[in-house]
Order: sequence, then C-alpha cells, then structure tokens
Amino acid sequence: MYPPLDIGPAMPYSAFPPPLPHLLQPLPASQKVLVVDDVPDNAAIICNVLKGMCDLMVAHDGEEALSLARQHQPDLILLDIRMPLMDGFEVCRRLKADLETTQIPIIFLTAMTEPHCEELGLNLGAVDFVTKPFRAPVLQARVRNHLEIARQRQMLQRLSHSDALTGVANRRFFGAQLTREFLRLQRLGQPLSLVMIDVDHFKEYNDHYGHLVGDDCLVQLSQTLLEVLHRPGDLLARYGGEEFICMLPHTDLEGAVLVAHSASEAVRVLGLPHAASPLGETLTLSLGVASIVPSPATSAQQLLADADRRLYQAKHGGRNRVVWQG
Ligand code: GH3
Ligand code: MG
Ligand code: MG
Repeated sequence: MYPPLDIGPAMPYSAFPPPLPHLLQPLPASQKVLVVDDVPDNAAIICNVLKGMCDLMVAHDGEEALSLARQHQPDLILLDIRMPLMDGFEVCRRLKADLETTQIPIIFLTAMTEPHCEELGLNLGAVDFVTKPFRAPVLQARVRNHLEIARQRQMLQRLSHSDALTGVANRRFFGAQLTREFLRLQRLGQPLSLVMIDVDHFKEYNDHYGHLVGDDCLVQLSQTLLEVLHRPGDLLARYGGEEFICMLPHTDLEGAVLVAHSASEAVRVLGLPHAASPLGETLTLSLGVASIVPSPATSAQQLLADADRRLYQAKHGGRNRVVWQG
C-alpha cells in the first residue's frame, strides 16, 4: 500500500527542541550563549562584552559545561582550553561525540596562542578560535556572525524536517526519529507503538470540494490529531498525501489503541462535512495500530509493516475504524 520508508540515520532531538508542536512554533527571539571558563573574573569579563546580544550562561568546569549544554541547548559555546580536571579540547570532543550536543557551534577562547592549539581546536570541530587578550568589538562581531549562521541553520533544519502544508513533521524526519526511538527503547526494554492513519474517500472529497478545500481539510486534521497526542515523546508526521502517522514511545498496544480511538473520535467531533462520502455526512479515518518491544530480532520496518497491514484491513473491513490485530 505504501512505498517502503527510507529510514535515515538517527537524528538528535536537539535538532528539534522541544519534541511535539515545535515545528509550528517560531524560533525563540533571543539566542543562548554558554561561556565556559574556570576563572570567574574571565567569565565575567566575557559576559560583560556580550551583554545585551544574547542570553548568557556560565560554566566553571568541563563537567558543568557538558551538563548545561545538554540541558539548555545553547546556540553557541565559548570554550576556554586550560581548565583543571577536563580541558577545553576534551569538552569539545565530548560535545561533538554526543548526538544531543554535536550540532552546537563552539568557539575556543583561550590564552593558548601556539599554532598547533588552533589547528587542533579547529580540527576537533570548533567553528572559530579566538586568543586572549581579545578586543571586545572583534569578539562581539564573531559571536554575532556565528549566532546568525546558527539561526539560519536552525531555520533550514525546520524546513527540511517539516511538511510544507501542515507544518507537522515530514516523512524524512519521522523515519530518522523512528530509528532513534527504536534503538533507545531497545536499550530500555520499553514498547514503541505506531498509529497509521488514512483519510477515507479523500479522492471523492477533493473531487467534490476542490483541492484547495482538500488542503485546508488536511491542515485542520493535522491540528486535531496534534491535540490527541499528549506525551512529550509523541510525534505526528504527514506520511503521504492524506496519510498521517503517530509514533508513541513508551506506549504499549493497549495505550496506542486508546490514542487511535481518541483520534477517530476527535475527527468525528470536528465534523468536517463530506457530502460525497458513502460512509456518512462527515469525514472519517481508517487507522492501523502496531506495537513492539524493540529487540535485535525485530525491526522498525516490521513495526511499520504491521501498522500498514492493519490499516489495509481497516480499509477492507469497511473503513471508519481502528484495527490492531492480525
Ligand atoms: P480510501 O478510503 O481507500 O483511502 O480512498 P481515498 O480516496 O482516500 O484514497 P486514494 O489513495 O485513492 O486517494 C487519496 C487522494 O488524496 C488522492 C488525492 O486526490 C488526495 N490527496 C493526496 N495528497 C493531497 C494533498 O496534498 N492535497 C489535497 N487536496 N489532496 C490530496
Ligand atoms: Mg491514501
Ligand atoms: Mg484515503
């Protein structure tokens, strides 16, 4: 029924904070910069120079830097190199190795002026290398430029992850998140469920009302489906033309069937007229539900195939129903 999904590599959540209606929210007006320096006076001077340009956070050692970076997802990190316990190079290595922080741009800001340090820092993935003492206007300009690049990258990322019509996740982003969640829940021994949704007789809807009304209908449907999903890890994606899919981590079959019935009921309450439907006066959905506790013996493709097969059964059983067996 559906072409096979080209599941991409796992994508970090940080590519899209926070998890659910994020795609529909504007990017925050102010950007966050994390300043990492073990000498409090140095950190205070840097903050003073950048004051008013961004929201500032300070970490005084490497561990604190890693934890603040994961927690707050800053748009840029200014990183000292010479620090006790963990130096800036090691902090950079760890940030780059972690899916949650790998995309955050790092500027080294250091008193180490030897050329091999600059070479190493840039090769570790830093976007810039500034030596102390620095000139305030130069640091301001570099930070401003890198924040601008970060903002443009975030906007591009949103565009490439979201569906142009409805603003919910697109199929590419869904595939990457499915891979990620499958692996994560395999480690935790927790269930992962999918609800695959297809609008009933949508061709007739378009033929009767026209494509523009059809488009508007898909937008309203996506909004209604979003309201049914409540948990932070839940994801709604537009899977194809008039097909949507919900990914429900930490949810077993029973829970997913409840969500599917809620979605069906929410669309019934929405009551979009469908005068050309042989099923009744309003638009209806067919839904296929599948659940799995991920393991090496199973696969995300298997889970998708189960949901797809049940959706097909819902269609053949008369539409406007939820199928979760067989
Ligand atoms: P079934 O109950 O078996 O699902 O019938 P159906 O008519 O919904 O299924 P079919 O797959 O034959 O047709 C889906 C239709 O959805 C085809 C097309 O007219 C419509 N469609 C797909 N994408 C869009 C879109 O982006 N906008 C609009 N307006 N219509 C779309
Ligand atoms: Mg279809
Ligand atoms: Mg359909």
